[in-house]
Amino acid sequence: MPDSTDFQINNKGIQQNSYDAIVIGSGISGGWAAKELCEQGLKTLVLERGRNVEHKKDYPTATKAPWEFTHRGRMTKEFLQENPLISKAAGFAEDTAHFFIKDKDHPYIQENLLTGSVVTR
Ligand SMILES: Cc1cc2nc3c(=O)[nH]c(=O)nc-3n(C[C@H](O)[C@H](O)[C@H](O)COP(=O)(O)OP(=O)(O)OC[C@H]3O[C@@H](n4cnc5c(N)ncnc54)[C@H](O)[C@@H]3O)c2cc1C
Repeated sequence: MPDSTDFQINNKGIQQNSYDAIVIGSGISGGWAAKELCEQGLKTLVLERGRNVEHKKDYPTATKAPWEFTHRGRMTKEFLQENPLISKAAGFAEDTAHFFIKDKDHPYIQENLLTGSVVTR
């Protein structure tokens, strides 16, 4: 039978897990907000759902010239047909595609309120 001194009770649990500010997302807005909050001395928690993108290491295409890409920066017809939504995103191209999801991995319903057309994928 353990005596009472054997119990590992964290009496500071609430204090350790309480924050002055919680920032959701570490993009440029959230990252900058967190920096400012920390600099003002606030205990700040940043929650990020994305993977850890490491500077330089995770930019595999940054130093490539256009002619070094298989399709010179463009996507194949097959890819465009399979990914009509993400292909229209600003900045999407062969050199940035690795940062984007695929349409089929995130099914969606797209309703056009003007024409009434509905696309389900
Ligand atoms: C390919 C590409 C190239 C670009 N090039 C330029 C450029 O050269 N110059 C320029 O000025 N702008 C550029 N932009 C635009 C610029 O990246 C965006 O305008 C800017 O990142 C928006 O900042 P943000 O903080 O609002 O959002 P984001 O940078 O998108 O940050 C949002 C963060 O929140 C996280 N998040 C979202 N939901 C949750 C959740 N529920 N829980 C936790 N975390 C969450 C996301 O993972 C993400 O990290 C480019 C964009 C793209 C896509």
